[in-house]
Parts: sequence; structure tokens; C-alpha cells
Amino acid sequence: MPTYDYRCKNCDSLFSVDKSMNDPNPKTCPSCSSIKINRVWSNIQLKGCEKGSSSGDKNCGVSCSGNCGSCGCG
Ligand SMILES: [Zn+2]
Repeated sequence: MPTYDYRCKNCDSLFSVDKSMNDPNPKTCPSCSSIKINRVWSNIQLKGCEKGSSSGDKNCGVSCSGNCGSCGCG
């Protein structure tokens, strides 16, 4: 079962929820019960390094969501 990470915009706490794709998303922060929570895409990256891919000669193979500075491939 995949783990989904969320960040609360109210208290800035991070929390993870184990759920299946079909389960509903959590609606409130477990710390402060705020509804202002955002999904954090930390575990599941859908695309690799764009910079490395476009260069053609190197592909860092690290999913950095296009932020190549974070993976050091650029
Ligand atoms: Zn909160």
C-alpha cells in the first residue's frame, strides 16, 4: 500500500497516510485539524530529470522533478 505525504499549510507539519488509490484523501491535519493540507510528492516521482534527459548524453536517473539542482546531474 503506497504512502502519501501531506503538509499542513496551517501548522506546517508533515504527515503520511497509508492508503490505497481508491481510498479518499485525508481532509484534515492530524495535528491541528486544519483543512489546508497539500499533497507532497516525495515518494512517488512521475518524471525524471528533465535537464539530464534533454542533454541526451547524461541521465542522472534520479527523480528530481525537473529541479536538477537537487540531484546534481546538471
Ligand atoms: Zn496542521
